[in-house]
Amino acid sequence: MNLFTFDDMKKIKRETLGNLVPLELFRSVRLIGMYQGLPMKGKNTTITVGREIGKSMPVQSIEDVLTLFEELKIGIPKIIEKTDNKMHIAIEDCFCEGLPVNEGNMVCDLEGAILEGALSKIYDGKISIREVKCNVNGDENCEYIINFS
Ligand SMILES: [Zn+2]
Repeated sequence: MNLFTFDDMKKIKRETLGNLVPLELFRSVRLIGMYQGLPMKGKNTTITVGREIGKSMPVQSIEDVLTLFEELKIGIPKIIEKTDNKMHIAIEDCFCEGLPVNEGNMVCDLEGAILEGALSKIYDGKISIREVKCNVNGDENCEYIINFS
């Protein structure tokens, strides 16, 4: 039994400040704390953290996963290409949009791992996700390629 579930996260009772925190706080945790602050740009941590979050999500279909990703305001996922064993997704309005470009850096790995964890609940086989583009790298979008095998 988990101490916290995704549903628990929605139980919010903050009278004055409400249910939102500013994007700069999320970015600070992600980029200053994790990407910059952890060894290897937080690689192992982000994979574990992202997958755990994804697996906690109440989703039943790929559509559920994409809708939730947008509801959480991580970004707006658009499917570019989908076959039986591959899905190519672009993220519009990603949380990283607007940050200074730093070529050679792709920073949205945790968000990809959330997708992977959530998709693993509705697909029995093996899933692997690869971040292939990122605004911070100077690309026009953040993009992931997901392989189902
Ligand atoms: Zn991004």
